[in-house]
Amino acid sequence: MTLFTQTSTWNQEEHLLFTDAVKRFYADELVPNMPRYDAEGMVDRDFWQKAGELGIMGGSVPEEYEGSGGSYGFDSITLYEQGKIGDGSWGYGIQSIVIHYLVKYASHDQKTYWLPRLISGKSIGALAMTEPGCGSDVQSIKTQAQKKGNHYQISGSKTFITNGGSADLIILATKTDPTKGAKGVSLILVETSELEGFRRGPRMNKLGQKGNDTAELFFEDVMVPQTNLLGKEEGLGFYQLMKQLPWERLLIGITALGIIDLALEQTISYVQERKAFGKRLMDLQNTRFKLAEAKTKAELLRTFINDCIQRIENNQLDAATASMAKYWGSETQNHIINECLQLHGGYGYILDYPIARLYADSRVQMIYGGSNEIMKELIARSIDT
Ligand SMILES: Cc1cc2nc3c(=O)[nH]c(=O)nc-3n(C[C@H](O)[C@H](O)[C@H](O)COP(=O)(O)OP(=O)(O)OC[C@H]3O[C@@H](n4cnc5c(N)ncnc54)[C@H](O)[C@@H]3O)c2cc1C
Repeated sequence: MTLFTQTSTWNQEEHLLFTDAVKRFYADELVPNMPRYDAEGMVDRDFWQKAGELGIMGGSVPEEYEGSGGSYGFDSITLYEQGKIGDGSWGYGIQSIVIHYLVKYASHDQKTYWLPRLISGKSIGALAMTEPGCGSDVQSIKTQAQKKGNHYQISGSKTFITNGGSADLIILATKTDPTKGAKGVSLILVETSELEGFRRGPRMNKLGQKGNDTAELFFEDVMVPQTNLLGKEEGLGFYQLMKQLPWERLLIGITALGIIDLALEQTISYVQERKAFGKRLMDLQNTRFKLAEAKTKAELLRTFINDCIQRIENNQLDAATASMAKYWGSETQNHIINECLQLHGGYGYILDYPIARLYADSRVQMIYGGSNEIMKELIARSIDT
């Protein structure tokens, strides 16, 4: 299976070549190391740099900043293929989100400094919105950035931050005006190296995605130059988040499709081999129907995801449609993987079987990137105009 449908229009010859290169890279560099990354709670720095050397991360970056000048198509392939090998450890989704924020909102100097570092894998990026006291309700964040001379003095804490344990750059959601709700939110670029008052919490012990670096972050009177504000003025942060969230939501749908394709492939081979009552499991009508239903849902998702990729390539992906991709993709993923696990019987519950790991890794897809309840709220708003 591939990400593309037979009628996809956004993909060109170069995307097919890129797909082959990404697959080879994952087979050589990621698949053999996945158990170790799970044990260590994060991928090697070296892995990021190898991805950088291959040009995997620069697909959406203008050539002026050392990228290859494309847009979302290359990232879509990288993320689908990552799902397709069942990897939940490499935090490339967030790296790609950070890169897109910079391409869209950063000053020339900020772009010149950060983009080459991020696409070469020398620097790792994180996006920190969620706080211990608030996740869904982003405009209620408490982390404050107060002007002091030509710096911001930042105090507060963030939680569940992907790439947080290793990030060199954090796009930090702060309140520059705590008297205002959404209009008081600003995004500030925080370079973590030797930053006084900045601390990372220990690795968070998650249900799944064990190799994915997820951390709490603490800021105690951290001083950051005012030139690190993202965008031309304060108070634009909430707007910037809302404008960029469609990509975060679509990429969760893309990953969901990759994981579904892998789960189906593995389950089909399992039920073709396993026997019960003198027959292959595949010969039982329940198995055939379950797999027929799952395959149909996967193909519907593939068509929708390809339509969304075309829309985002045309700059036409609206918030409600992206929310549908995230909600429907992650829910379909969890439903199908649950069915696939059931078809494995007891072995499906044993972590030596990849389906058990996919089951644990999949659950969070309905929570992060905006919970599925929030997605439904956004979709409902677009109906109730
Ligand atoms: C592994 C992992 C990685 C993450 N990575 C990042 C990251 O890189 N950066 C980042 O900023 N955050 C990250 N998050 C945080 C994630 O985005 C939040 O957990 C998520 O947005 C939900 O926020 P919350 O946990 O505070 O739940 P809450 O907002 O407290 O919600 C709890 C429950 O109430 C429901 N709920 C809340 N409001 C409404 C409403 N209005 N209507 C209906 N139901 C509602 C929610 O859907 C949920 O079911 C990550 C989380 C995890 C687990």
